[in-house]
Amino acid sequence: MKEVKTPKKPLAIYYTIVLLLILLLNVVLVPWMNERQIKEVDYGTFMSMTEEKNIGKVDIESNQIIFTDKDNTQVYKTGLMDDSGLTERLYTAGAEFSSEIVEQGSPVLSFLIWFVLPIILFTALGNYMNKKLMDKMGGPNSMMFGGMGKSNAKVYVQSTEGIHFSDVAGEDEAKENLQEIVDYLHDPSKYKDIGAQMPKGILLVGPPGTGKTMLAKAVAGESNVPFFSMSGSEFVEMFVGMGASKVRDLFKQAKEKAPCIVFIDEIDAIGQKRNSGQYGGNDEREQTLNQLLTEMDGFEGNNGVIILAATNRPESLDPALTRPGRFDRRVPVELPDLKGREEILKVHAKKVALAPGVDFSVVARMASGASGAELANIVNEAALRAVRAGRKSVTQADLEESIEVVIAGYQKKNSILTDKEKCIVAYHEIGHALVAAKQTHSAPVQKITIIPRTSGALGYTMQVEEGNHYLMDKTELENKIATLTGGRAAEEVVFGSITTGASNDIEQATKLARAMLTRYGMSDDFDMVALETVNNQYLGGDTSLACSAQTQREIDQKVVALVKAQHQKAIQILTDNREKLDELAKYLYQKETITGDEFMEILDSPQ
Ligand code: ADP
Ligand code: ZN
Repeated sequence: MKEVKTPKKPLAIYYTIVLLLILLLNVVLVPWMNERQIKEVDYGTFMSMTEEKNIGKVDIESNQIIFTDKDNTQVYKTGLMDDSGLTERLYTAGAEFSSEIVEQGSPVLSFLIWFVLPIILFTALGNYMNKKLMDKMGGPNSMMFGGMGKSNAKVYVQSTEGIHFSDVAGEDEAKENLQEIVDYLHDPSKYKDIGAQMPKGILLVGPPGTGKTMLAKAVAGESNVPFFSMSGSEFVEMFVGMGASKVRDLFKQAKEKAPCIVFIDEIDAIGQKRNSGQYGGNDEREQTLNQLLTEMDGFEGNNGVIILAATNRPESLDPALTRPGRFDRRVPVELPDLKGREEILKVHAKKVALAPGVDFSVVARMASGASGAELANIVNEAALRAVRAGRKSVTQADLEESIEVVIAGYQKKNSILTDKEKCIVAYHEIGHALVAAKQTHSAPVQKITIIPRTSGALGYTMQVEEGNHYLMDKTELENKIATLTGGRAAEEVVFGSITTGASNDIEQATKLARAMLTRYGMSDDFDMVALETVNNQYLGGDTSLACSAQTQREIDQKVVALVKAQHQKAIQILTDNREKLDELAKYLYQKETITGDEFMEILDSPQ
């Protein structure tokens, strides 16, 4: 499907044309008009014309004579000469003395030419181009004057290269859900006959980059209908009322083109909860939202306009938007699971040259938690890496390295670590890995590296789950906290001092411990009481406490106790395996990057 974007070019072309016209006016028209008005002749011609009595009007000025021929068809001028009998001769020639021969074009005419004509030209040309653009885009365009407040809705012109459901990997539930819409758009009568109402609006909710936009386009592609797409933020304008008028305009266009799909991305930009009774609210946004609600109420469910909207902040939407008759159907578009990740990788890998023997399931497992957009990025990064290395195809190693780039940033080539620091980092990372390996229910270690990254990480231990993981039990969570404290624990066990290198570990361990107490109900004292609410499910997942100050203090104490216990456990594990710790750290120090297999081999080898 080809998207006709709001063209930037016509404006430039428009200005160029106007400029050229003005130039033309100056260079050609002005001299031409002057020439037509006044023709300069030499004195001899004037004299012979006088003799032939071919003079109409005449005006003798201080330094020139302006005159016309007998029929007043042409104005001439000539320089004034010392000519004594001139006046007399002119009389006899029947000339009429007049001081108003040269109108220099009448003032009205020059006003028309210099002020009115350009304006007419500008407007006419502007309108013409505006109209042409409208025809091309299937709608008015706000770029030209006269188009203010019109929507910028882009129309995806129907063509064979449309996006289809097959282009969207994974997300089977979402596709199934949307298939009904496609079916309806193919044959609305089937639904009308039985009296079934299609939902007017469908809300696609999910984290960023999971393919919501793609799915909306695919619905249009599958059902062969026009696709209007606009982002919520595009409605919010500087002037109050403009957004509302854009909404009006968008729906007007959509109704003309029905059946069609209207897609509003980031609907939270206009659909946020209206805060009642508060001063300083955003009037413009509220008006826009009200207009949207009015439009949605205004049309019948069966008129063939289906509105899809996407958001990653569903909890912030105004309830008026999500009530029945508006966006009453909600389609979750979640992060892909293992199988989904593998499929998405394969879809995007079709665009690059692959070396034989690439195992996507391994890559997919390593990229746990990645969104579709991130996976697309990983494949592209891998291709770029292959080009940098001068290879013709993308290898498994490229893909694995690019995951690390996406997770941790690029390798810092000129490492500035001192030997001592490198040694500490090696122990720290082995500390994580060893604690993980010595506990049950820990994801296997995939890779350990102490090459610094641009993200600031000095090294990291990559653990990869074997399969999908939907539930975690209490022991697993505790073990995870222990693993996170393992780095610091190794520093303590080996060097007896601690460094700043554990800041990220500390943050994660604390978050986990808190969540166990406040959200997962994993403590005896609080039982199954929610002490925290998640504010934003899809973006970062920040939380706010929902309990008394007294309880907060208790939670804090329990969090500390929980982390402390796991930290002690980690220290114990490392002390018990001190020889292995030394051996592995030394090995990592020398090699800088080791695989999980190498790690396990050394770990399992007899002392
Ligand atoms: P969203 O609208 O949810 O933020 P997009 O639809 O804009 O995400 O997806 C961004 C890009 O990520 C797409 O252009 C596509 O390349 C890739 N992508 C995301 N999800 C998928 C998927 N399920 N299958 C294939 N590609 C995907
Ligand atoms: Zn660490």
